[in-house]
Amino acid sequence: MRRLLIVSNRLPVTVQEKKGDLHVEPSVGGLATGLSSWYKSRDSIWIGWPGTTGKKIKRGKDILEKLLSANCHPVSISQQDVEAHYHGICNRTIWPLFHYFPLYAEYSEGFWEAYERVNTAFANVVAGIAKPNDIIWIHDYHLMLLPKLLRERLPKATMGFFLHIPFPSFEIFRLLPWRNQILEGLLGADLVGFHNYDYTGHFLDSVHRLLGYEAAMGQITLADRIVRADAFPMGINYQQFSSAVQDSKTHAERKRFRKKLGDCQVILSVDRLDYTKGIPQRLEAFSAFLERNPKFLRKVILVLLVVPSRTRVGRYMQLKKEVDGLVGEINGKYGTIGWMPIWYLYRSLRFHSLVALYSLADVALVTPLRDGMNLIAKEYTATKTDGKGVLILSETAGAAQELGEAIIVNTNNHEELVQALTKALEMSEQEQIEHNRIMQKRLRRYDVVRWADEFVDKLLNTKKLQQEMKEKTLTFEMQRKLVNAFKESNNALLLLDYDGTLTPFSPKPVDAIPGARLLTLLEEFTRNPRTEVVLISGRDKDTLEKWFGSFNVGLVAEHGAWIKEKGGGWETIEALTSDWKEEIYPILESWVDRTPGSFIEEKEFSLVWHYRKANPKLGEIRARELINNLSNITANLNLHVLEGNKIVEVKNTDINKGRAALKCMSKEEWDFILAIGDDWTDEDTFKALPPTAWSIKVGFGASAARFSLSSQSEVISLLRKMVRRR
Ligand code: UDP
Repeated sequence: MRRLLIVSNRLPVTVQEKKGDLHVEPSVGGLATGLSSWYKSRDSIWIGWPGTTGKKIKRGKDILEKLLSANCHPVSISQQDVEAHYHGICNRTIWPLFHYFPLYAEYSEGFWEAYERVNTAFANVVAGIAKPNDIIWIHDYHLMLLPKLLRERLPKATMGFFLHIPFPSFEIFRLLPWRNQILEGLLGADLVGFHNYDYTGHFLDSVHRLLGYEAAMGQITLADRIVRADAFPMGINYQQFSSAVQDSKTHAERKRFRKKLGDCQVILSVDRLDYTKGIPQRLEAFSAFLERNPKFLRKVILVLLVVPSRTRVGRYMQLKKEVDGLVGEINGKYGTIGWMPIWYLYRSLRFHSLVALYSLADVALVTPLRDGMNLIAKEYTATKTDGKGVLILSETAGAAQELGEAIIVNTNNHEELVQALTKALEMSEQEQIEHNRIMQKRLRRYDVVRWADEFVDKLLNTKKLQQEMKEKTLTFEMQRKLVNAFKESNNALLLLDYDGTLTPFSPKPVDAIPGARLLTLLEEFTRNPRTEVVLISGRDKDTLEKWFGSFNVGLVAEHGAWIKEKGGGWETIEALTSDWKEEIYPILESWVDRTPGSFIEEKEFSLVWHYRKANPKLGEIRARELINNLSNITANLNLHVLEGNKIVEVKNTDINKGRAALKCMSKEEWDFILAIGDDWTDEDTFKALPPTAWSIKVGFGASAARFSLSSQSEVISLLRKMVRRR
C-alpha cells in the first residue's frame, strides 16, 4: 500500500506547556479522532502545526523525537504568523465568508501575506518529506494555496484536497480579494473534495466564471492535466459511538445525569460557540415553545452544551454574552425552584459523558445557520441503539442531505422551529424508530473509513485517467517522428482548423485575426511545392478570403459549405439553399433579446448564435433551450443544429468538415496527411482520414484523433518544428 501524507493545519497531537515543561498530548475531536484507526492502519505521516512555536520545540527536550515517533512532522510557524493566519485570515475572513456571513469578513493584506507565508512553509516541509509514490491528502481552508505550491515543487505528485467547510455560491466567493489565487491554489490538486454536491457545484461555478475553465461531469481540463471535483460526505466512526452506549463509563455518566434531570424529557443542543451555529435563534425558539406550550413546563429540559471556541475573537466574545443573557432570561422567566428549563454547560465534555447525553436525549436540536457537515447530528443518531430519539436538523447543515428522515427546518423560520419541537416531543416511538433505522443504516455503511477510502480511490482513479490521457499526448519523441515523416514526404497535405487551433479564442470572433507570426509561418509552408496547406474552418468565406486570400493555400469555409482550392476560386460543394434562414433568424433574434451579450453571426449557408460574452450559466441554459426549440423546427428542413464552443449553429445537413476533407484528400496521392483541430466539428475530419494519417486534437477529451496536444500554443510550436525541417 502506498504511503499516505496527511496535511492539516493542526497535528493530531498538541504540544502543551505545563509548569514550564512541554508535553505531547493527543488533540481531542476533529479529523484525527475520527480517522485514527484508518490512518494508523496505513503507512502514514501527519504534517501540521503542533500548537506551539518552533523555538519552543527546539528547546523542549525530546519533543521533536516524540512527535516524529508518533509519525507527526511539525511545521514551524512564528507566533506572528499564527496570529495573522489562524486567528486572522482563517477565522476572521475565510470562515465567516464561506459560512455566508460576508459582513463579518475582514479583508487585510497583512492577513493574506501571512496566508501565503504559512502555506509556503507547509509546502517546504511536505516537499522535503514526500517521495514520488506517496499519496498526499491536504485538509481544509487553512491550506488552500498548498496544492498549487506543492505542484510547482512536485509536478507528478498524487495530491488530493478536502474542504471541511461549505464552499459558498459564486456571489459570496467573489467578494474575496484573493479569489483567483485561492481557486488556482486548489486546482493544484488532482482531486478536490467537498461534503456535498451543492458545494462542489459552487466551486465549479466559481472556477468557470473566474478562471474560465469549464467542467464536464466534475472534470476540469487544465493546460497540462485534468482535475476532478466531487462530493464525499464525511462520515463518523459509527461503531465507536454506537458501541460506547453500552460501555460501563457511559452507563455511570447516564445514571448521574438522569438523577439530576429527573424524569423530564430532554432536548439536547451541542455546539462550539460559533455564530454559524444559530444558538441564539435556538434559544428564542425554545422560549417561544415554552410560552405557547405551558403543559411542557417542568416536564422538559434543554441541555445546552456550548464548547468554548476562538475565545479571543471579538465576535465570539459578543456571542458568549448574548447566549449568557438569553439563558439567564429564559431561566429567570420560566424556572421554578427545583426546575430550570435550561441546563447550561460552557465547557467541553469527555467522550463518554457526551455519548451519555446523546443517548439519553429525547430530542437533538441541531439548527446551525450554516454548517459544512455537522457531525453532532450523525453522532446523536448513531447512539440511538434502541431506535428512540428525534433529530431536528437545519437544512443548511451539510448533513441534512443525508439525513432526510430527520425533522428538517429552516433555522430562520422561528415558527417552524417551535412546531418542530412540539412535533419531536410528541412523536410516536414507532415513527422515531422507523426514521432512525433508515438513517443509521446509511451512517453505518458510509462511515469515516469508507469516506476516506472512497476519497483515496477516486484520487488514484483520477491519476490513472491523467495517465491514459498522457499516453495519447503527442510526446516530443512522437513529434520527432512526425517531423521526420513530413521531411521525407514528397506530397504532404496539412488540414488545419483555424479557431482554437492556429489562433486562440477571443470574446468577439472578429477580433481573432491572424497575427503576423502565424501568417509568416503559413507563408513558409506554402513556399515548398511538396506541401499543400488547407485551412478548414467554420468561418464565412469572405473572412477567410480577406485573411488568407493572397496565400497559396486551400480554404474551406462554413464547415465545408464552400471550398477554394489552392490557386482556384470559391465553389460550393453541393447545390445548397439558404431560404430557411428567414424562418430561423427571428428565433435566434429572440434568444439574443433574452440573453444579454449574445449575438448572431450570419454566414452564407448557416446561422450561428454566439454566447461567449454572455453570463456563462445563463448562456448554457439558453443554449439548451435553443437546441431543443430548433430541433423541433428543423427536423423536416434538412438542417442540422450543432453545438460548438460557446455557439449554436444551424446549417444544411449535407455540410461537414469531413466531406470537405475527403474532397481535398481525393485530389492527389498524398504520402503524408496531418489534420489538427480542437472542437467536435473537427471530429468529422478525423473520422474521414485514412489510418496512416496523423491526427491531433487540441485539448484533452474523447476524440477520433490518434494524438492530442494540450494547448493551441503547442500546435504552433509543432508547426514551427515542421517548417524548419522541410
Ligand atoms: N465534541 C467533543 N466534546 C464536546 C462537544 C463536542 O468532543 O464536549 C465533538 C463532537 O463529538 C464532534 C465535534 O466536536 O465530533 C463537533 O463537530 P461538528 O462537525 O459538529 O462541528 P465543528 O465544531 O467542526 O464546527
